[in-house]
Amino acid sequence: MSVNLSLGGPAQASVTEQGERATTGQGQDSGKPATSAAIAIRLTNVKRMFSGARGKFTAIENVSFEARQGEFLTVVGPSGCGKSTLLTLISGLSQPDQGTVEVLGKQVNGIQKDVGFIFQRDALLPWRTALQNVALPLRFRGKSKHEAEELARSWLARVGLKRFEASYPHQLSGGMRKRVSIAATLSYEPRVLLMDEPFSALDVETRTLMENDLLHLWDVNKPTVVFITHDLQEAIGLADRVLVMTASPGRILGDYRVDLMRPRELTELRFDEKFVAIQHSIWEHLRAEVLRAYEQQ
Ligand code: ADP
Ligand code: MG
Repeated sequence: MSVNLSLGGPAQASVTEQGERATTGQGQDSGKPATSAAIAIRLTNVKRMFSGARGKFTAIENVSFEARQGEFLTVVGPSGCGKSTLLTLISGLSQPDQGTVEVLGKQVNGIQKDVGFIFQRDALLPWRTALQNVALPLRFRGKSKHEAEELARSWLARVGLKRFEASYPHQLSGGMRKRVSIAATLSYEPRVLLMDEPFSALDVETRTLMENDLLHLWDVNKPTVVFITHDLQEAIGLADRVLVMTASPGRILGDYRVDLMRPRELTELRFDEKFVAIQHSIWEHLRAEVLRAYEQQ
């Protein structure tokens, strides 16, 4: 089997079994240019700078890409290349110094209700039970107490925590807390879901289970996902497309379509020859950036 790889400018490179180009804005199924209505996220020439001890420095620059509605995008890149910065811009937690960020057809200028954000660290309130933690964002969005609790119950059941409704976060394992966070975010059905290395603190077995669960949950409402990880296997296993970032200052080095069948069983997928070949091709390009980032430290 052969995998063609071409690396071009930002968001132009792609790797698929057929060597098909994953040009941004191009329909995965139809091959026709996507209308702007089908684009959930669009970044155009984005630059973000920070003030550091040695003056201003550029965290990311020339970042342009689009995500179609319902697409599952993962972003990999070496530590410090600006992955989290990218998500804070999409979420509206921060603004670009140059360029534009649009979500669901509107320029982002503040936090949006339709966007869910899951961080590496749990954002659960320690003094509230699992049920109360899941119900809280629903209450913020105007559901009655009864409605919020009913929905929270059904979501906890969906993530396998029916028996733990009354448990407090400290009584749950890391994997269980992560499930509560996911239930709390998915319960209000965000159209865009941003995840910043959500599973990186979990042990390998729990992590694979969580990734599988996430794919099943995503399949229900198909939000557009931007999922950050530094684990290439995780990135490929989950994604429709993998974006690879350069070492700091972060730019988009490659945009790869992952042409693997869904639904996927991740525990088996990792041994699939197509999967291994894609991993190989992307790693060829990522490796140089990881080394460059290492030398910068
Ligand atoms: P990654 O998530 O890829 O590891 P980040 O987006 O967290 O990288 O950070 C990119 C660079 O920007 C890093 O050098 C980091 O130290 C810097 N940075 C991130 N946020 C801030 C901030 N609020 N103030 C100053 N520097 C920041
Ligand atoms: Mg980060």
